[in-house]
Amino acid sequence: MDADWVARFADEVIAEAERRAPGKPVVCASGLSPSGPIHLGNLREVMTPHLVADEIRRRGHECVHIISWDDFDRFRKVPVGVDPSWNEHIGKPLTSVPAPPGSEHPNWAEHFKAPMIAALAELGVEFHGISQTQMYGSGAYREQVLLAMRERRRIDAILDQYRTKKAKAKEVADADEAAALEGSGAANEDDGSGAGGYYPYKPYCSVCDRDLTTVTSYDDETTEMSYTCVCGHSETVLLSEHTRGKLVWKVDWPMRWAYEGVVFEPSGVDHSSPGSSFVVGGQIVREVFGAPQPIGPMYAFVGISGMAKMSSSKGGVPTPADALSIMEPALLRWLYARRRPNQSFKVSFDQEIQRMYDEWDTLTRKVQDGTALPADQSAYRRASSTASRVLPETPRRLPYRTLASVVDIATGHEEQTLRILRAFDPEIGGLDELRPRLDRAQHWVNTYVPAEERTQVRETPDKELLDTLGEQDRESLRLLAEGLGEQWSLDGLTTLVYGVPKVQAGLDMDAKAATPELKAAQRAFFALLYRLLVGSDTGPRLPTLLLAVGRDRVRELIGHA
Ligand SMILES: [Zn+2]
Repeated sequence: MDADWVARFADEVIAEAERRAPGKPVVCASGLSPSGPIHLGNLREVMTPHLVADEIRRRGHECVHIISWDDFDRFRKVPVGVDPSWNEHIGKPLTSVPAPPGSEHPNWAEHFKAPMIAALAELGVEFHGISQTQMYGSGAYREQVLLAMRERRRIDAILDQYRTKKAKAKEVADADEAAALEGSGAANEDDGSGAGGYYPYKPYCSVCDRDLTTVTSYDDETTEMSYTCVCGHSETVLLSEHTRGKLVWKVDWPMRWAYEGVVFEPSGVDHSSPGSSFVVGGQIVREVFGAPQPIGPMYAFVGISGMAKMSSSKGGVPTPADALSIMEPALLRWLYARRRPNQSFKVSFDQEIQRMYDEWDTLTRKVQDGTALPADQSAYRRASSTASRVLPETPRRLPYRTLASVVDIATGHEEQTLRILRAFDPEIGGLDELRPRLDRAQHWVNTYVPAEERTQVRETPDKELLDTLGEQDRESLRLLAEGLGEQWSLDGLTTLVYGVPKVQAGLDMDAKAATPELKAAQRAFFALLYRLLVGSDTGPRLPTLLLAVGRDRVRELIGHA
């Protein structure tokens, strides 16, 4: 059987973990910064190690997936829409910044972690969250911090190799810029160099709690460290007791690889370029912390389509929770499982989501009847279940596009929705059988389909148009009206709307015919019906539309009441 990318990484990671620490749990890791809403694009940071960790667990190995919450990072900027008075908090740890107004959470970091944690639970991602505020604050990294300070000259020399390379490498600047735009911020963080010498540790000021500090001296013997702050404060502390500060990013990351024994941690394209944190970190973890670098594939950016129209009202930043409001967890998992990490793809909030769902349904059928290719089967299995659970499924699956058309037309009226959908599947006992897919489609139509693409069934007949119709068109409407009585089902209406132009051409209603003339006549007939029913040249598939509008109203709108 073809091993997919997840299985191949799992092989590699298990072998490496056995080599390093036989019998110990395998450690995979992700890092997330709760500096603002966690972008859907950042979900790949979690899904890539999740899928690998899950495969390792399926094979019976113990595996821990760590998510490091970078909540001890500095607050960089006040996002649009938040009171400018938050400016005074710039430079403080994210856990020391008040949550945005109206939040139920104790601080900024917790406010933005919470929806991500909820989304990950829905997605079936099992992880062990580690707060960096808690780790640094408790002194857990004491030995590592003292070691890094002792080795500061060596670290400075390593960083210096890349500082030179970096100046030469244009693409790094571009990647850093991309990272800054993306909001990860880490890539453009100050690496600890300053006029007074190189120190990889940055204290938060004990008076103003900001990191606008400069270390001015450090004594290896006593661990006495002096710093000054732009607020005017200066003091000398014992680093062996100090817990209000952290290692700079490029040292902090490799320190944690060594501390946690991380075997697998992928990174975004911005962290994997020459001179980037992952490359520099590899050298620092080996030469300073005496541990190997994790296996760390680079993952490509995940794009979003269909959010442009939302950007003004929603800030243009879709989160995993937004994606889960329009698609089921298994489908979202599948988008990540089926593409290798270095392949980019898009998550669609526009019409494309209907095609994505069609593909998913096709794959499901192939898996059920045993005709799916091995790699597709693997992706399906990874999407629909984890080592410990099966993701929730919609018991009765109707095509997403059908559900979307129907809820669009029925505008959320439940009885009407059920009546129409029974024409597609008479066995439907109640709408709950169609959930949660139905609710996702409903939310998509209400939230992401632009007003001009929504279906507006006419309130009253278009008298003007009806009065000016020629004999041919009148005849077609009469034939349609006659047929509505017997043909009130999805199949019947399909035969009817294609058949009316056939009858007019002297053929049988269900004749197999497809001449260019007939096709043109069918197109013209459909356009006429759309005009009369929804005042537009196009719309949802006609049989669906007719069922949704209802027999009496159709008769009224085509002038045959
Ligand atoms: Zn200060």
